[in-house]
Amino acid sequence: MPAQCPKCNSQIHSVIADHVDVNVVGGKTWHGISYACPSCSVLLSVAIDPISLKADTVEGTVAAVAQHLHSLEARRQ
Ligand SMILES: [Zn+2]
Repeated sequence: MPAQCPKCNSQIHSVIADHVDVNVVGGKTWHGISYACPSCSVLLSVAIDPISLKADTVEGTVAAVAQHLHSLEARRQ
């Protein structure tokens, strides 16, 4: 049985996903994703974007490793 929109009562077989910034009190901003009803556009849910979270984690890890290797190289000279 498909879900039902809480606003327009349409049966929901798909949603509209869009990027949204998630601003955490205290300063940090995450890449979020919003899910909206395709019939009336009411916001159904917001979550941290898992694809961006993965990409940001990999990018941050690579940058940290590169910085560490650079500092080791600088110590040798
Ligand atoms: Zn709706």
